Amino acid sequence: MRHRESTLVLVAGAAGFLGSHLCDRLLAEGYEVIGLDHFGTGRRRNLRHLEREPRFDLVTHDVVQPLPARLRRQRVSRIYNLACPASPPHYQADPEHTLLTSVLGTRHLLLAAEESGARLLQASTSEIYGDPEMHPQQESYWGHVNPTGPRACYDEGKRAAETLCADYARAGRAAVRVARIFNTYGPRMRADDGRVVSNVICQALAGDDITVYGDGSQTRSFCYVDDLIDGLYRLMEHGEARDIGAVNLGNPVELTVSDLVRRVLGLTGSPSAVVTRPLPIDDPRRRRPDITRAGELLGWAPRVPLEQGLRATVMWFSDEAEDGPRAGRR
Ligand code: NAD
Ligand code: UDP
Repeated sequence: MRHRESTLVLVAGAAGFLGSHLCDRLLAEGYEVIGLDHFGTGRRRNLRHLEREPRFDLVTHDVVQPLPARLRRQRVSRIYNLACPASPPHYQADPEHTLLTSVLGTRHLLLAAEESGARLLQASTSEIYGDPEMHPQQESYWGHVNPTGPRACYDEGKRAAETLCADYARAGRAAVRVARIFNTYGPRMRADDGRVVSNVICQALAGDDITVYGDGSQTRSFCYVDDLIDGLYRLMEHGEARDIGAVNLGNPVELTVSDLVRRVLGLTGSPSAVVTRPLPIDDPRRRRPDITRAGELLGWAPRVPLEQGLRATVMWFSDEAEDGPRAGRR
């Protein structure tokens, strides 16, 4: 592990799916971690195993509000900004708050980075490419986003957050790293998250109908959580420059939603029937990351094959099933 000035790290969105795995990784690397969350989509139980961990502290706070003084006084060397709901039904439930979370939340964390001299990593998203006209998507692509559609609160918020990061770096106010994260799955997703992997697995395990939106021919590329967390950590620690430009992190193996359903049905042996539902507005047709940049800069590539990652996720949800998982609906 390469420690710099301080071993203290702030993780905003710590109680979420990715945030909780990131906290585990940082603690394993020897850091002290302050987790911050307002427990919108995040859950305390994602961090329950850290309750007795002396190097972990958890603060309840909504990043739309300025950071509390006690946090601003902390000498952190790294700030990871993962605070934002990521699943369409959740981020569309309160679109104004989602937009403000990205814009004001990122600003408040950038101000904290400026004050403490910390480097900030922004969890951006493949959604900034919108319904892409370039395939696979490279970082140089500016995207094709509907600025007023139901996904805009998330997409445009994340785009504005990237703008803020670039401006703070350009002005010499903070060093930033921007990860454009593509669809990621794994243990600790919520059963009611509403995303396709958790929905399909929970529906298959419960023997419920599997909901395919549209005709199922739309594609996504799914990355297992451990691979993604490794990419985030490598990106944060890469180089000394104030800004190295955005980096795509995701698994380039692309499949249709129908293919995903077939694989989950095969893995679970579920008798579930497949039913179709209307395709949500502005649902991207295709998505696959070009990860050349991540490979060249970070020596990073996903290692966990889809079959193995899905198996681990199915096992995790089966254990949860005793509590009765039910897929989230739009
Ligand atoms: P998640 O919903 O499980 O986690 C988000 C966490 O942020 C939750 O714990 C939530 O309570 C917290 N949060 C949200 N708004 C907040 C606010 N205003 N103040 C404080 N905390 C707040 O989602 P996730 O999948 O873990 O995603 C984490 C980050 O990664 C998000 O920024 C998301 O946009 C980004 N991302 C995720 C994916 C993916 O496939 N999982 C893909 C692209 C980008
Ligand atoms: N989807 C689906 N059934 C579901 C949930 C999602 O067919 O129960 C589709 C959704 O319309 C999209 C794809 O699966 O085309 C991925 O959706 P998700 O919400 O996981 O991610 P995103 O659309 O944000 O990439």
